[in-house]
This record gives sequence, C-alpha cells and structure tokens, in this order.
Amino acid sequence: MENSILGLHHITAIAADAKRNFEFYTKVLGLRMVKKTVNFDDPGTYHFYFGDEMGTPGTILTFFPWGNIGQGHTGTGMATYIAYAVPDGSLAYWQERFKSFNVQHDPIREKFGEQYLSFRDPDGLKLDMVVPSTKDERKAWTSVIGAESATKGFHSITLTLRQVAPTAKVLTDLFGYRLLKQEGNHYRFITDAIENASLVDLIEAPNQAPGRGAAGTNHHVAFRVKNDNILMEFREKIAAAGLNITPKIDRDYFFSLYFREPGGVLFELATDNPGFTRDEPLEQLGSNLMLPKQYEGSRSKIESILPKLN
Ligand code: ZN
Repeated sequence: MENSILGLHHITAIAADAKRNFEFYTKVLGLRMVKKTVNFDDPGTYHFYFGDEMGTPGTILTFFPWGNIGQGHTGTGMATYIAYAVPDGSLAYWQERFKSFNVQHDPIREKFGEQYLSFRDPDGLKLDMVVPSTKDERKAWTSVIGAESATKGFHSITLTLRQVAPTAKVLTDLFGYRLLKQEGNHYRFITDAIENASLVDLIEAPNQAPGRGAAGTNHHVAFRVKNDNILMEFREKIAAAGLNITPKIDRDYFFSLYFREPGGVLFELATDNPGFTRDEPLEQLGSNLMLPKQYEGSRSKIESILPKLN
C-alpha cells in the first residue's frame, strides 16, 4: 500500500480578506494555523495552511487570500464541497456554534447513510461537517473546540462534473480508488490504501454551467503520496495515460506535481516529506511568517505589503 495514493493530502481554496479567513478557520472552526507563508508564485499574497497539530496530510486546508478578488461561484469542472469528519453526536454542537457566529448553514441531512451539516465560510466556500459511518481515530487539534466535537481532518472532497466517467477513470485506473456507492447522480469512490480522508464523491451534472474560480471556490485538490520516489512513479503513469503533468516542484513543505484531470479540476500529488516542521518547531508552527529562500531577501518589503492579521 506504501506506493499507493494515500487519500487526500491538502485542499486549496480562494479567499478575499486574509484576516477574516484567518479568524474563521482558527477561531470558529478551531483549526491550527500550521504555516503562514506566501504564494510562491505571487509573494505579495499569503498562503495559509490550517490543519491538525502537525499539519498531517489529510487535514490541511490552504488558502490564497487574494484581497479584492471578485466573488466566484461553484459549477461543473470544480471541487464543490469540502467535508470534515467530526465525532458522532457533535452536529448539534456545530449547529449551535454556527448560529452563534452567524455562519450560514443548512439543516442536518443524510447522504450515503451519513449525517452531515453543510455550511459556508465568510467567502461562501461550501463545507460540510460529516459524522463518518466508519471509525475515525485521528487525534483532533483541540485548542478551541473540545475533543468531543473538534474536526479530525478531511472526510471527503466532492467534484461536480458534466460527466463523471473520465474523472472516475483517473481515480480507479491511476489512483487505485474503487466505486463504493451510488445514489442517483452521486458516486462515492474510496481508496483502501488509508483509513481516513479516503473518499472522493463525484456528482454528475450535465446541464450545470461551469464554475468560476475566485473568492469562495476551490483552487485545487492534492492527493497524498509517501515520498518523492513514489511521486515520480505516478508522474510516469499519469503521463503515459496522455495527461499533461508538470515536473516535480519543491513547495518547501512537500514536493508536488500538477495536472488537470479530464473533468477540469486541477489535481496535485503531494508528498509527506519533508513536512511543516522543516523550518519551525512543532510548538511554533504558524506563528511566524515563513518565506521560501528566494524571497527571504525581500522580507521587509513583503511584510509591508501583506495585510495585518491582528
Ligand atoms: Zn497544493
């Protein structure tokens, strides 16, 4: 199983206001900011990483807060729901919490035999809290929310597509997932290579318009591999399937490859190594602005451009 895709690594989305985004994810959802850095391709913009204590792959939600970027909207060719796993019995707590913080949310519903609560972040990004039907023994980060309610990391990602078949083929033939369940036009795929963050849901919506990527929408979905040797094995496999894939890119905290899957969603493969403690000790993760070495010389300029968070 070691040389397989190990479920989700991280999910990256777009926000407008940096401070509002930072406050929502750390104070309302109670995630840990595990890295505060900049967009390596656009160093005047932050790149925030929120996760569990260590930023374990499968827990990491990241954002580019692009200031006055316009509002996006979801649609086909896009990841449309990001789901977190929460403990059994905690949805009522989350419902109350969302009421008290004026977080937009829907009634509790059921899908694939699991209870879930859909909500939106301040930019309108669609998220779910899900009580998984299988056990989730991951240890939650509990600085703000107690262990009886805190999120343990990702449950699943949902992609909305005009046609599911070409994307399903990538999941099954290249990534080792299998179809677990189908309800109408909703298809659930799972990998048996890892216990959690192992689900990808596909919704087939042939008549829905394409999404528009801007604030409140997903940017890309990263799948997890153990190390860079396995990453490069996947690169060959994906290129051999006729998909355009980037060379290996050093993202400081992991190594990455990117390709656009046939349904239009930007996929990334990202490694476990070296992880978020490569430039900060565990107890200080996220407390300092960390810059990749090519920008260290421009630190004071970058710090003066980036919005203040406190
Ligand atoms: Zn990424």
